[in-house]
Amino acid sequence: MKNKKAAEILRQFLKKGQNRITPERFEVMDAALDYEGHFGADDLYVIMKNNSSRVSRATVYKTLELLVQCNLLCKRNFGDNMTHYESLYRKQNHDHLICMDCGRIVEFPSTSLENIPSQLCNELGFDFSSYSFNIFARCKNPKKCKYFNPKGKNEKLS
Ligand SMILES: [Zn+2]
Ligand SMILES: [Zn+2]
Repeated sequence: MKNKKAAEILRQFLKKGQNRITPERFEVMDAALDYEGHFGADDLYVIMKNNSSRVSRATVYKTLELLVQCNLLCKRNFGDNMTHYESLYRKQNHDHLICMDCGRIVEFPSTSLENIPSQLCNELGFDFSSYSFNIFARCKNPKKCKYFNPKGKNEKLS
């Protein structure tokens, strides 16, 4: 197990919810936290398979949901109807700009936005839970963009 502190968080969470504590779940956790950037559940499953893991697809899906619930991962929606996951562990809070032409995702720190959602919740009489903020934009010059792919728009959004 590479991420000891995260493993402890997951262990406590599983125990509290009376979920089974299995080595496969920690295997998925390590793979998910080590993934650089954004990924779909199937991306992670394929990577684990290629590393000759014996974990099942169902376990990957289920464990990713559990990791979201204990705040080690978060879900992102980049407007393509796919669920993308991203590690929150040892990572600075940030938001995303998504290019609608080339599918590139640029991260930026959300320091100037951070307090707004919880302030709004307070004003509207709610308890803040989470927020998502995406900027959708277009390449200024698609011809010069090395990410631009004229054939398959948004083919790979992760
Ligand atoms: Zn991100
Ligand atoms: Zn672009």
